[in-house]
Amino acid sequence: MPALDKKNGQTPDSPCDLGVYVHVPFCGNACDYCAFYKEQPRREQIDAWLDGIEKELALLPFPRKAATCYIGGGTPGVLTAQDLEKLCRMLQKANGGNAFDEWSVELAPATVKRDKVEVLRSLGVNRLSMGVQSFDEATLKILGRRHSPAQVRRAYDLMRQAGFDNINFDLIFSIPTEAPDRWQNDLREAIALAPEHLSAYCLILEEDAPLLQRLHNKDCLSEKNPDREAALYLETWQTLADADYRQYEVANHARDGKRCRHNLNTWQMHDWLGYGPAAASQCFGKRFCNPSNLKIWLENLSRERLFHIDEETLSREQLFTDALVFGLRLNGGISLAGTAKRFLGTTDIPATLLDFIEDLREESYLDDVVPAGTLALSPRGMLVADAVACELLRRLDACCEKSKSSHNER
Ligand code: SF4
Repeated sequence: MPALDKKNGQTPDSPCDLGVYVHVPFCGNACDYCAFYKEQPRREQIDAWLDGIEKELALLPFPRKAATCYIGGGTPGVLTAQDLEKLCRMLQKANGGNAFDEWSVELAPATVKRDKVEVLRSLGVNRLSMGVQSFDEATLKILGRRHSPAQVRRAYDLMRQAGFDNINFDLIFSIPTEAPDRWQNDLREAIALAPEHLSAYCLILEEDAPLLQRLHNKDCLSEKNPDREAALYLETWQTLADADYRQYEVANHARDGKRCRHNLNTWQMHDWLGYGPAAASQCFGKRFCNPSNLKIWLENLSRERLFHIDEETLSREQLFTDALVFGLRLNGGISLAGTAKRFLGTTDIPATLLDFIEDLREESYLDDVVPAGTLALSPRGMLVADAVACELLRRLDACCEKSKSSHNER
């Protein structure tokens, strides 16, 4: 079985992209559906965070040239043009002066200003992702977003004027209390603007999010139901396909050549390094996470120390299973022999997995269109991709436990 190359952080038989993620933990406003860790954007905190990123980049240098970079949050747009310039220059330096092939920045519509998008473009950022969520005032209000549809259009114009030709919109559907035609109208508005990429997410009501409490109080939760969600998914996929957006993941659709390489790299179990509070990494055969606390993150960096939580060494079986789980969400699916070879060092597919695939076929959850030897879900299977992934994990875990105990008995 090939060993992990600790120096490069990658398996020698599988040269792959290195992705870099930078987490900006500041939000000027807390959206009602969001349970993520965030801090108020105060000047001294932002300065301390920028210094922290510089230290962290020095303490955890990229083991090789990074191909993609994604600055997300939080709300990166709360940074000024000068902050963004400083951050981008640090990242360029950390990449040995090399350009990232794909360099994305998330921007909330209300934070988009001409000077910010111009500085990002001039420094080599080539993809922007905008948290539009909806073009409907009432829906934005339910979600607790503080931007208006007019701000979305203005922000989009500024991005285009600055020269960006790769823009994503994040949109959310299945929101309790929404009008029946709200989602179709949103899709129509988004398509009319013609961004290169559209991410359409079904609203997840997080336990700690204020929206859940509000809906409880108004007794509106019964309006969310799985059949309606399934119908909305199918409607979304069809509408976007008709408008020449090719779906490549359950929630992601792109024009040709505009799929998000950074996210694909992560889903395909390649390597990524995360910087900033709450950022996660997978590299050097390990997975680890920074604390979701600006103060603790900064305290450790001030002592020239990296402090990671939830650190685990990844086994090849674990990587194999995770690659399958993420592969289930991809339209192109995942090559069974290729993945087994890459992680397990053999093209033999575990019998438990072959049995599982047969069960999926019987349920019509498998796509017949993809090449033989590829595990890919049909649209019917995609609708239940998370449940399929849970069942896959359960069966492979049970199989591992069984082989461990028979090994111990020998
Ligand atoms: S959804 Fe995004 S912008 Fe809104 S509070 Fe959460 S992290 Fe901040």
